[in-house]
Amino acid sequence: YLVRALPLKDIEGKIVKWYGTNTDVHHQKELEQQKDNFLGIASHELKTPVTSLKAYAQVMEAMFKRSGDLKNADLLGKMNKQVDRLTSLIKDLLDVTKINAGRLQFNNAGFDFNEMVEEVIEDVQRTSSKHIIVKKLNFNKEIFGDRERICQVVTNLLTNAVKYSPDANEVIIYTEDHNTTVQVCVQDFGIGISKEKTDHVFEQFYRVSGNKEHTFPGLGLGLYISSEIVKRLNGRIWVNSVVNKGSTFCFSIPVRQEIPF
Ligand code: ADP
Repeated sequence: YLVRALPLKDIEGKIVKWYGTNTDVHHQKELEQQKDNFLGIASHELKTPVTSLKAYAQVMEAMFKRSGDLKNADLLGKMNKQVDRLTSLIKDLLDVTKINAGRLQFNNAGFDFNEMVEEVIEDVQRTSSKHIIVKKLNFNKEIFGDRERICQVVTNLLTNAVKYSPDANEVIIYTEDHNTTVQVCVQDFGIGISKEKTDHVFEQFYRVSGNKEHTFPGLGLGLYISSEIVKRLNGRIWVNSVVNKGSTFCFSIPVRQEIPF
């Protein structure tokens, strides 16, 4: 039970009576738990058929290519892309259930930070005609942490920058070496976010309303997952944004993860 009490005082300030309310938070917690369980089971069950769908579509695309049937190969290519989107949505849902259950795993190892950032850029560039510009990437930094999770954060910020700046020609990614930490900023010249809403964008399932949500698909999980990853890495994530001018999302993490997860 959550108990809230307010004192009723007389003119001398002496408490003469307490007003109290008891709220049953147990029921709320149970509902929350049920939601998390459902999310976990549903995303796990969705993963299996989507994984085989992907395998079949890949085989078929290769077959059509080999036989010179480019029209069907192109169709299968499109299908593959949609399956990839589905896979990434399911992955996000699975990550959220892991975070909520405190079961998000980290596998730390040494890796080349620049190479990882370049890999993300190449990946995002493949599906976007926008010019992705890299600045200050000229440092060699071997960092110790979970490459895949850090990659996930950079990917989320970069895909959002591309997605939420439909009329802009470029996106800039800055990387900075601060000796004991590395910092990555992604700047876009897109729709921006108003001040009061920037406080909420890192919350679970939060999406800015009035954004014509349907033109920008998503579940509102990427930034939540990113901020949870950065938090676990003892780093910081933040945003500066101006409506109709654009946003800059940054994060900074220690170059060495001391605590083995
Ligand atoms: P999604 O993009 O799937 O909705 P995210 O968690 O990545 O989920 O982002 C949450 C919300 O924050 C988005 O719905 C969008 O309203 C806002 N947002 C995120 N990145 C940007 C950006 N670069 N520019 C403008 N708004 C953004």
